[in-house]
Amino acid sequence: MLSDTHQHVLQLDLLGTPQAWISVEQAAVHHASGTVVWVDGDGPLRTLRGGWNAVTGRQSAIEVFPIIAVGGHSRINLFDVAPAVTRRKLFQRDRHTCAYCSQRFADRDLQCEHIVPASRGGPWSWMNLVAACGACNGRKAARTPAEAGMPLVYLPYVPSRFEDFLLAGRSIRADVHDWLAVRLPKGSRLN
Ligand SMILES: [Zn+2]
Repeated sequence: MLSDTHQHVLQLDLLGTPQAWISVEQAAVHHASGTVVWVDGDGPLRTLRGGWNAVTGRQSAIEVFPIIAVGGHSRINLFDVAPAVTRRKLFQRDRHTCAYCSQRFADRDLQCEHIVPASRGGPWSWMNLVAACGACNGRKAARTPAEAGMPLVYLPYVPSRFEDFLLAGRSIRADVHDWLAVRLPKGSRLN
């Protein structure tokens, strides 16, 4: 079972809002149950062969595209849900750049830095977290940027739904990446 998003299908709702990364098999189930309303992408990701039709003598086939829009109601209103913050997604949002010294670092040399320190009630949230290198994080310690005299070189923001799916994908097909990228809000650092 491949786990990278290269082999995964981006599932949208009718309005084109990303819902989930699903497997080719899960996408095939949507096709088979007739809930796929439209598809997108450069071409089929995979063609799955089904049973033989006794009348026509032909084998059924389902072409699974990398982007599918599925009808029906989503269980939750995704616009009400802020994307969860993870270390990986935070570093991607901030382009692996320390918010204080503006140098670029590898994942292992970056830390999730609370702008308002956690010890002073600063939350684990998109708006209170930035990527910072170990040296800057240590120097700032349990102070605010103003107290430490360390202004942020960029500002935090909450990623949109489209950005969140880009941030979560490890290896996204070029056509799916482009589909998401053209829908990013102005000012996104992922542009
Ligand atoms: Zn730094």
